[in-house]
Formats: sequence, structure tokens, C-alpha cells
Amino acid sequence: MSRPAIDLHTHSTASDGTLSPAELVRAAADAGLDVVAITDHDTTAGWDAAVRALPPGLTLIRGAEISCRWHGMEPAVPLHLLAYLFDPHHPDLVAELARVRLAREVRGERIVELLRADGVDISWPEIMAAAGGGTVGRPHIAAALIRAGLVATTTEAFGSDWLGERYRLPKEDVDVFRAVELIRAAGGVPVFAHPRATRRGRIVPDELIVELAAAGLAGLEADHEDHSPAEAAHVRALAAELGLLVTGSSDFHGTHKTVRLGAHTTAPEAYERIVAAASGVTGIASG
Ligand code: AMP
Ligand code: ZN
Ligand code: FE
Ligand code: FE
Repeated sequence: MSRPAIDLHTHSTASDGTLSPAELVRAAADAGLDVVAITDHDTTAGWDAAVRALPPGLTLIRGAEISCRWHGMEPAVPLHLLAYLFDPHHPDLVAELARVRLAREVRGERIVELLRADGVDISWPEIMAAAGGGTVGRPHIAAALIRAGLVATTTEAFGSDWLGERYRLPKEDVDVFRAVELIRAAGGVPVFAHPRATRRGRIVPDELIVELAAAGLAGLEADHEDHSPAEAAHVRALAAELGLLVTGSSDFHGTHKTVRLGAHTTAPEAYERIVAAASGVTGIASG
């Protein structure tokens, strides 16, 4: 039997992906995956629909991508933690995620106000409606800029003239050490998403990753479309040094990005370490 295909980082319409959770798991099966994780930004809202639609032969790992910030530098650096198989009812974690989702709405509306003040005719209520109750983010504003004919692609909307710099506002994320503690307290397994993605903005120093490993971080995402081969190799070497597991994933967002499901994958050994370390919820295999 060939090695299973495992993609541990994808987004649905529960955040800024364009496939519904049900469509996402069907697409994962069609792409030939054996295991897929649903990891929407700051929410578990897509979990149940994904479970209900799970096609035969596919295992679902329930997760989230948590918006974090490291305050060891001025201004604080944003970063993402993937959290796997945590208890979605853990009260402190639930409260933090709800707080971050609300802060995203405040920030999104402020970004749209800045754009409108410069004569850009997009509407916040329309963007919220298009997000359909999912965690709102800059990709939703990017989609509005595309609909308005102001930019051609999401990539262009994330350029420095738009959401990448000129109209970029920080959000009120979870302190990264607090996030590691909360994910562990909820029985989950924290993995640092795309830690060397310099093309997205500032990154954190390796010294922070050493500290996070001591604080309970379980792994590092190495194979990701925003890492160059050299960046991925650096992440692998650091993980080996610190005894952390290594993951790879597509970070699929439907048509908000061009990457395909399964574009990068995780080795079965690393996947098994995640499952073994988790005690919040189990992986779900259908049929
Ligand atoms: P936000 O969470 O609102 O700050 O938006 C960040 C999200 O936008 C990320 O999760 C990615 O999905 C997407 N994103 C970030 N940088 C880019 C980029 N350069 N091009 C396209 N999408 C991006
Ligand atoms: Zn996203
Ligand atoms: Fe991310
Ligand atoms: Fe992501």
C-alpha cells in the first residue's frame, strides 16, 4: 500500500476559504487525500458540517488556525498557530476565539472606512454578507476590491498599495504563549504555521521558537507554498534540533488562492504523533 496523503491545513467558508465545509471534504476525497484537517481561522464553526459530509475513506482532523501575536518586538509580530484535536468547548479557549473574531470585524470595518475615505466604493455590510457568518478577514475585503474592478487578483489586493501595507491594520490577536497554553489545556496539539514565510511580512526569530517549544509547542509547518526550499529546509533543521514534529500542507483557500489541495503533505509519522498527543477530540474516519 502506498503512503497515505495527509494535508493538515485547509480553509472553508467558515473563514476565508471559498468551499463550504461539506464541499471541502468532498474536494479532499476527489483530490485523493486520505486525511484532511479543517483549520479555519479562529473558529470551529465548520467542524460539524464537515463531519456530516465526510466521504468514505477520508479521515477528518478537526482543527483551527489561531491568530496570535508575539510581543517580544515592537510592533508586535503576528503569527499563526495551527491547533489540532482540541476540545471545542474549553471555556477559556472559546472565549479567546470569540474575542478575536469580534476584533476582526472591528478591524475589517475600520479598513473599509479607510478605503472609503480615499474614495474606494466598497461596502462593509456587503462584505459581511458575502462572508456569510464565517470568520471575516482581509481576503473578504480583497474579494470586494476584485468585484469593484479595482484589482484583478487576491495577490494584487495584498500588494503594498492595498491590504498588504497602505490599508493594513493590526488585529487583536491572542498572545502566542497564552495560545500554546490554551490549546494544550484543551487537549489540543499546537503547530506553528508557515513560521518562515518572509513573503507575507515580518517573521519571528528562532529564539522564540526555542522558547515556544519549551512552553509546549509540538511542531512546525515546513512544507508550505509561502516557504522557499531554503526556508523549508531551515524549518526542518530547527525542528530536528528541538525534537518538534514537522508538517506540510496546502493551506487551501478555494479560489481565494491558487494552491491545490494536497500541494504539500505531512508524513504519516508526524501525523501519528499529533493524534497520539491529542486528548480533546478524536480524528473522525467515515465508513
Ligand atoms: P487576515 O487574517 O485578515 O489578516 O488575512 C490574512 C489571510 O489572508 C491569510 O490567512 C491568507 O489566507 C491571506 N493572505 C495573506 N497574505 C496573502 C497574500 N500575499 N496573497 C493572498 N492571500 C494572502
Ligand atoms: Zn486565510
Ligand atoms: Fe496562516
Ligand atoms: Fe491558513
